[in-house]
Amino acid sequence: MGFRIIQKDGNARYGILDTKSGSVETPLFLPVASQATVKTMPPDVLKKIGVNAVISNTYHLHLRPGENIIKKMGGIHKFMNFDGIIFTDSGGFQVYSLSDLKKVTEEGIEFKSHIDGKKIFFTPEKVIEIQSDIGSDVMMVLDECPPYPVTYEYAKESLNLTLKWAERSKRFFNQKFKGKRAKPLLFGIGQGSVYIDLRREGIERLKEFDFDGYAIGGLAVGEPKDYRERVVSEILPFYPEEKPRYLMGVGYPEDIFFSVKNGVDIFDCVLPTRNARTGLVFTSRGKLRIKNAKYTDDVLPLDPDCECYVCTHFTRAYIRHLFQAEEYLSLYLATYHSLFFFSRLMERIREAIREKRLEKFEKEFFSKYSIQE
Ligand SMILES: [Zn+2]
Repeated sequence: MGFRIIQKDGNARYGILDTKSGSVETPLFLPVASQATVKTMPPDVLKKIGVNAVISNTYHLHLRPGENIIKKMGGIHKFMNFDGIIFTDSGGFQVYSLSDLKKVTEEGIEFKSHIDGKKIFFTPEKVIEIQSDIGSDVMMVLDECPPYPVTYEYAKESLNLTLKWAERSKRFFNQKFKGKRAKPLLFGIGQGSVYIDLRREGIERLKEFDFDGYAIGGLAVGEPKDYRERVVSEILPFYPEEKPRYLMGVGYPEDIFFSVKNGVDIFDCVLPTRNARTGLVFTSRGKLRIKNAKYTDDVLPLDPDCECYVCTHFTRAYIRHLFQAEEYLSLYLATYHSLFFFSRLMERIREAIREKRLEKFEKEFFSKYSIQE
């Protein structure tokens, strides 16, 4: 188990991540399945689209249905009937973004459930326990995700807390899974907001704990794009070369290309799914808002260059009609296409790295794809 880099093209890497539920190729994009479902997508369809890994969420599953129920049902793979690889986020980000009433102490985070207001206390150890009960293949440590913008002093204090929690998480994980054969992977999360020296100090410390992989957390929280790009390009050289690198919450195709070229291996983002449900889909020409009146009698598919089920069977006019009539099928069809688009994009990126022609593929991709809407 672990991570193997098979081919490099510049700083971009093609690799294989081995987990207790099988292996997956990187660079990899994880669709978000917070509630143990990629919204509107049955798992057999996910597999057909080429989605072999998703990310679920500790915070959401702890609140509902509760990890005890999932454990009783044989773990998350059986519960949601998905035999691919399941990452789980620790919940640090959700506590930060969903729960107004939270109190962070050295011991952990106290917060109120956004569902029923019940008081809950997360510690680094508790979050490992919950992810273990869920049956996660790749666990994330509990971190504190500072908002943007944030002062240097706050970011520094927050980073110190995240590092203490990372150390506790790893120690607890090692005790819990000592001698076990099929154990999950545990990833550490680098923080430090937009301050490069803090991020660098953070990753140097995290490396000492020898995690199975390392994430860049705390980005895509509203910072300007050039700040994010600076963090990615300047901080990745300090990440361990031989371990997988995971950029959390990113992103758009242009962000994926930029980050892959800087050595990122794993991404997750709600973009293809959440946007699809509002009628915004990704195509080889760029973003397309299917609700736009100009598609009322358009006989073309969502993306004329796409071979997916949706694009080979339905017109823009029909899908627009479904959205206008608020038919549930609209959500399924739009999500299906956008996930297929991301899945295919990652597949082509992997192919290009293997054949050492990523720059060329990027130029080819953006000769058609427009970042503007
Ligand atoms: Zn399509």
